[in-house]
Parts: sequence; structure tokens; C-alpha cells
Amino acid sequence: MTSIGVLALQGDFAEHIGIFQRLGIAAREVRHPQELAGLDGLVIPGGESTTVARLISEFALLDPLRERAQNGFPIWGTCAGMIVLAQRASELSWPTLDALAIAVRRNGFGRQVDSFETDLAVPALGQQAFHAVFIRAPIVEEVGDGVEVLAKLENGTAVAVRQANALATAFHPELTEDDRFHRYFIDMVRGHKDGHA
Ligand code: GLN
Repeated sequence: MTSIGVLALQGDFAEHIGIFQRLGIAAREVRHPQELAGLDGLVIPGGESTTVARLISEFALLDPLRERAQNGFPIWGTCAGMIVLAQRASELSWPTLDALAIAVRRNGFGRQVDSFETDLAVPALGQQAFHAVFIRAPIVEEVGDGVEVLAKLENGTAVAVRQANALATAFHPELTEDDRFHRYFIDMVRGHKDGHA
């Protein structure tokens, strides 16, 4: 049985859990380090990255999560979760997990367009475009070596990236009906569990 945790310190964790459960995955909330035991993967949901990053440190999750990420444990961050996974995040006064070689800027799209929706080409998910919902999303300003860009905006800005078993989306697949990113992550988790990656 594949078991996926969703970090439930703050933000829209319930939506992720609902989708995984619908897909037949044992998904559960994670707030404390001991709750990481037995998990095959973890999602860091959208929310407020300053709050999430502060609570990760306060709940003694920083070292266990960094260690797992370094050892190839699958982690997926959406929106604020992308910020928490990044190597560098401007305007964040708490440490990140440094699991993905990207630099991000919080709320990088600016006030004028702080929320928008767009259809993205995501070849890794197949032919059909993915309808992506962005809410005060981070902008990926730098993409380092070894990072695969899974989707970008028309202006070239990366909005979905993967490096080994770390996945990040600047938008919110948990807020739409299309569950292909959740299934993509489940495949990553199963591949890791079975020893393929
Ligand atoms: N703007 C938020 C932040 O900086 C992220 C918003 C979101 O997760 N929807 O943390």
C-alpha cells in the first residue's frame, strides 16, 4: 500500500488528501517528525510560505525533511510548498529545505496579476493541456543544473520543475478536477519505493 503524507501545518492540505484518497492512496496529515515514519512520499501544500517555513523549524521538521530530501525521498511542493523546497527564496526569513536547485521570488507576479488561470502544455502528462490556477504564486528566477522544467509560461518562466524526486509546481493542481499531477507524483513515489529511482 502506497502511503503519502501531506504536511498539515497550514494551508490547503485537505484538498490534496481528498484527491489522493480518491485515487486509492493512503494519505494522511503530517505535523510532527514521528509522523513521517512509514511514509513513501510527502506533499507540501499551498498556503503562506513564511508561516509554513517557520512552523517547519518550530516543529523540529527541518532536519528530518532535509535529510529525507537529500536521500531521494519523494517530495512535491505546490505554490508555497515550491518556495519551501527551493534552494533560495527571496523575502523569506526562515530556512528552506534546499531540495531543488531553483531560486524563487515570493509573490513574484506582482499585485496586478496576483491570481490568474492559464492552460499549460505539460508534455510529461500527455497531449492535453493542464488548466493551472495561480494564486499569489512564486516566480522561478533561476533554474540550476539537473533541474528539469516540466512546464513554462509563454514568456519562458518555469512553473513546474523536477529534480530527481523533488517536484514543484507554482500553481495549485489540488484546486482543479484534473488529477494528472497527483498521479504523476504517485508514479514517482512508487518508482522510488520499488527501487527504480
Ligand atoms: N504567496 C504565498 C507565499 O508567499 C503562496 C501562495 C499560495 O501558496 N497560494 O507563501
